[in-house]
Amino acid sequence: NNINFEEVLRENKEIAKRWLEKRENNRYNKMMSDRRKLPAWQKKNDILNALKKSQIVVISGETGCGKSTQVPQYILDDWLNNFSKDGPEHVEVICTQPRRISAIGVADRVADERVEKTGQVVGYQIRLESKISSKTRLTFCTTGILLRRLEYDPQLKSVTHILVDEVHERSEESDFLLLILRDLVKVRKDLNVILMSATLNADLFSDYFGNVPVLEIPGRTFPVEQFFLEEIMDMTNYVLEENGQYSRKVKKGDKERRIDLETELETCDVRADSTEAPKLSIRDENLTIGQMIARYPKCSKITCKNMYLMDTEKINSELVEHVLNYIVNGDHKWPREGAILIFLPGIQEIMSLYDQLVDSHTFSPKTGKYMLVPLHSTLSSEEQAQVFKKPREGVRKIVLSTNIAETSVTIDDCVFVVDCGRMKEKRFDSNRNMESLDLVWVSRANAKQRKGRAGRVMPGVCVHLYTSHRYHHHLLEQPVPEIHRVPLEQLVLKIKILPLFKDMSTHEVLGKTIEPPMKQNVDGALCRLQDVGALDKAFVLTALGKHLAALPVDVRIGKLMLFGAIFCCVDSALTMAAFLSHKSPFVAPFGKKGEADAKRREFACSNSDQLTTLKAYRKWQQAMKSSTYAALVFANENFLSHKTLLMLADIKHQLLGLLASIGFVPDMPALRKKMRKDSVASLTGDELNTNGNNEKLLAAILCAALYPNVVKVLTPEKSFHMQAGGAIPRQPNPEELKFKTKSDGFVALHPSSVNSTVGYFASPYLVYQEKVKTSRVFIRECSMVPLLPLVLFSGCSLGIELHNGTFIVSLEDGWIMFQVEKHEVAEMLKTIRVELIN
Ligand code: ADP
Repeated sequence: NNINFEEVLRENKEIAKRWLEKRENNRYNKMMSDRRKLPAWQKKNDILNALKKSQIVVISGETGCGKSTQVPQYILDDWLNNFSKDGPEHVEVICTQPRRISAIGVADRVADERVEKTGQVVGYQIRLESKISSKTRLTFCTTGILLRRLEYDPQLKSVTHILVDEVHERSEESDFLLLILRDLVKVRKDLNVILMSATLNADLFSDYFGNVPVLEIPGRTFPVEQFFLEEIMDMTNYVLEENGQYSRKVKKGDKERRIDLETELETCDVRADSTEAPKLSIRDENLTIGQMIARYPKCSKITCKNMYLMDTEKINSELVEHVLNYIVNGDHKWPREGAILIFLPGIQEIMSLYDQLVDSHTFSPKTGKYMLVPLHSTLSSEEQAQVFKKPREGVRKIVLSTNIAETSVTIDDCVFVVDCGRMKEKRFDSNRNMESLDLVWVSRANAKQRKGRAGRVMPGVCVHLYTSHRYHHHLLEQPVPEIHRVPLEQLVLKIKILPLFKDMSTHEVLGKTIEPPMKQNVDGALCRLQDVGALDKAFVLTALGKHLAALPVDVRIGKLMLFGAIFCCVDSALTMAAFLSHKSPFVAPFGKKGEADAKRREFACSNSDQLTTLKAYRKWQQAMKSSTYAALVFANENFLSHKTLLMLADIKHQLLGLLASIGFVPDMPALRKKMRKDSVASLTGDELNTNGNNEKLLAAILCAALYPNVVKVLTPEKSFHMQAGGAIPRQPNPEELKFKTKSDGFVALHPSSVNSTVGYFASPYLVYQEKVKTSRVFIRECSMVPLLPLVLFSGCSLGIELHNGTFIVSLEDGWIMFQVEKHEVAEMLKTIRVELIN
């Protein structure tokens, strides 16, 4: 904020001089000649002219045409070119990217094209990592970074150009940024805004900004032949039905029935092992996996002939391999060369197909014929650089990617695309009242974009692993914008924290977004934010809310992390936060559920599923320290998923980074570097985890995170809650206990819970993670909370009333109420500020 203009001008002169000198540089000229070949070059002058006439411009063009790398440079070069001719004295260009990996990747590429080091004139800024200097005039940053800057620099004072890249992705943050920019340009008349989009929907953005000009960069792609499932399978016995599906007759006993192709690939003897009570294992030859999941959403495993599904999240990798074989060895007139790009839903699917291909006869890199490259957003930029590498003569590149390769990353030599048709999408999970990552079908727009990736260098081929019937009749036209599917807590916190909106209500602000979210979803978010204590009764941001706003995770997870840092149990809190946000590492294979539950109970501690999982994680981590093999054996013996545990270690690492970025733990770059090599290294020094083994404290911070998800334990004789601390007349059997929530009445503990076999709870309150409704309402993953932590950590104010000679404590919701001894009251009063009702 303390800009020394003289210094800036001196630097600008220096930058302009250096730039002129580059014309003598061979490498620069070689790069320049490549840049001139990109389709965007044809539109360079149109773009610059449009910006002179219109404050806001939309640019649309095929992926790879040069939007991200070139347009910011046109602005920079135009400024440099006019600098000595009385042009503007200063320029500061910011280009936002939806992902960290693309911010770094594009900055490195652009710096390279200018024969400079990243961090000089061209730099990047992402959370916890930046390469910028006083000389930087073009910064690539994540959308989140720009939103944070708006908190203390609401008018973006020194910025001259803002480019918002990939607006078509419709991320929640990018939609929100557009809303802010639409207002900002009215105050900052000298600020240019450029929205860059793939070829979809550019008019939507133009309309939103009041009919601003749209510049289209013409594509230069080759035709791509498109094939659907029915065209690549042996269809001998199938007929085309009137509804457009392919089916064949199958005999089952005496009966004959028709089964369609997609169904058949997905069915073939589906078995699901359900974790619902009572023990239930379902076997049904008539259901597809999809139907099975819909009907039994919590079944832990589904198997079928073609597939082996763990946690109901896998695509048909055998089918993918079959198609790969067909591409490279099949009897067809397709090209015999060129990279193959496979679109898969997520990292796990990528890694498991990767392992499968490494082990296969044909595709193993040992054959010397294939180069296998995984591509997803959590790779480092060095790892990502692999996809740009041209393999040696005779070696074929196979890229296994998430939808990051749809528009963000361009694989230049790609000729084949295999589209599995699924992607991971953030959704609101009403069971958990928080965000979850779901496997969903792609939209037609995604599928078209995927197909287009095959025609970059020559005519290409795209194989969709679903039928043309699904493509035409079942896929959505466009993906659902993120703002319509995710919980809105984070966005509401952002609105509350931005000075720009200090006089507006949340509803008013969100009502102005490009496609506003539903009112009830905004209400839900406001309500949940009050529940966690991020907003007070008047919807004003609390101190806790301010910190939660800076953590891009679910507010409950955020609260757990903050409390972990405050109470010196960082490592334990982060382990719990990791499995709360991802999933439990415990697995219950088909037919072995009883055995698995028994193993899980061997870890049981403190009447808590979460602390039980924590203990199991620690034992695995211990095993990892001796060897990966030892850890694998340990995981297998104890019904734990080694892969999930590795994933959890990775998530912990990311969460630690977030805590460091807001100053709640010291940033430890050395540790982070070590973690990259050794993912299960203990996260923090001991001084940050001195209370890591204090189970009462851990239960308390769980309560802080999960409140108001509380169940009351009622004994058969009398409601238990009135006599805590008093004598227990008789220890009941577990079946005699009843559990009650505030809103659903009686519920049942999930049989997988360590608490489901317990007959006596020292405290009659359990906090729980999620509520699942099947035949009845089940509570999954719960922990007993002692009374004092419940009172201290729920975030509610409480009342203490003297009633017939005994003290009754009640939380403000009136639903949680219990009796305490006099000395306990004194203790509470010492510890907390309480409002006495009487
Ligand atoms: P768009 O934003 O329109 O999708 P980009 O500006 O990202 O396009 O990329 C333009 C071209 O620059 C790509 O087609 C590719 O040929 C090249 N390119 C981009 N990044 C790299 C890189 N890191 N290494 C090599 N070539 C790259």
